[in-house]
Amino acid sequence: MAQITISHLQKRYDNVEVLRHINLTIADGEFVVLVGPSGCGKSTLLRTIAGLELATAGDIHIGSRLMNQVAPKDRDISMVFQSYALYPHMTVARNMGFSLEVQKRPKAEIEAAVNKAAEILGLTALLHRRPKELSGGQRQRVAMGRAIVREPQVFLFDEPLSNLDAQLRGQMRIEIKSLHQKMRNTIVYVTHDQVEAMTLADRIVVLNHGVIQQVGTPLELYDTPANKFVAGFIGSPAMNFISGTLEESEHGPLLRIGADLSLAIDPTISGLQSGAQVIYGVRPEAIVLSTPDTPGAIPLDITLIEPTGLSELIHGTYGAERLSVYSMVRSGAAPGDRIWISIDTTRVQLFAADSQQRLTKAGE
Ligand code: ADP
Repeated sequence: MAQITISHLQKRYDNVEVLRHINLTIADGEFVVLVGPSGCGKSTLLRTIAGLELATAGDIHIGSRLMNQVAPKDRDISMVFQSYALYPHMTVARNMGFSLEVQKRPKAEIEAAVNKAAEILGLTALLHRRPKELSGGQRQRVAMGRAIVREPQVFLFDEPLSNLDAQLRGQMRIEIKSLHQKMRNTIVYVTHDQVEAMTLADRIVVLNHGVIQQVGTPLELYDTPANKFVAGFIGSPAMNFISGTLEESEHGPLLRIGADLSLAIDPTISGLQSGAQVIYGVRPEAIVLSTPDTPGAIPLDITLIEPTGLSELIHGTYGAERLSVYSMVRSGAAPGDRIWISIDTTRVQLFAADSQQRLTKAGE
């Protein structure tokens, strides 16, 4: 069993609290991604699980074993870093088997372990090459092979794809995910890239300033973010936020945005109080291009258009608000033009302006 249990974990450097009261259970075989902006403490959390950093307070168990005082090499983990640091003078096979060589394992056993890992990673034909004869992606695969041959209970990945170009990152993401599907080891993976987190994880842990903001499956975080930080961090292009004041009307609650504009609000949202300042969260795909005579249509003054061929991301302003619209229809518009947009008000999320927490709907 390689369940990881982290209880009341704290980490302080001098007066700086880097991790605050972290409680997290990672199930055996689960792929968990730690994500958050630079400096939020994700590498520190990973390195504390690895034993490369000592916790200031709290406990870490792997399986039923308390790890606080256990040396990294005795934790039955393998770590893959951003820099793959292969030995340049050794072949791929020897790089991969070197940790077993150090442990003085029998030659035949090392060869079998290397061959098995090479087969999983598609490296069999490259076993006799040296690192300089490999591409960046192949080198990263060798670094993973080196981790696999030890058959650890837990894999820890620290931004392993950051050094690769965008296309290779996409390929390696697929390889890591299919590797996990084959091997089913427990994986804890650190990245600042929320797309990587969304595509790889069984569950994502969002950190900010050393505090866990939310833990959930990728779609739970996308559809029901706990607060404005998670809502803005998860999803690309990012969610739009529009500030306004709650009002009661004969048709139900409304969000007053400007003198001549208000938007409907789902009346089943809890804690709606007339006069309260709230933030309307709208994903770019919940906005459609419309016409000036459509009720609730908003004028958008275009500042920039990003065409991808398949879609268009239109950026613009409405008063002081900056909005992005994801359109599968080509607008034919240009910067400086005014277009009209409508918000699908059934797909909106509301956040309290003071606490930044999401106001939940009935049945949640
Ligand atoms: P992340 O991986 O999310 O970018 P880190 O875990 O590397 O963040 O760092 C979290 C915070 O801890 C940062 O503010 C960083 O400056 C600080 N930090 C990391 N290591 C040390 C250290 N050895 N001494 C002092 N502060 C540190």
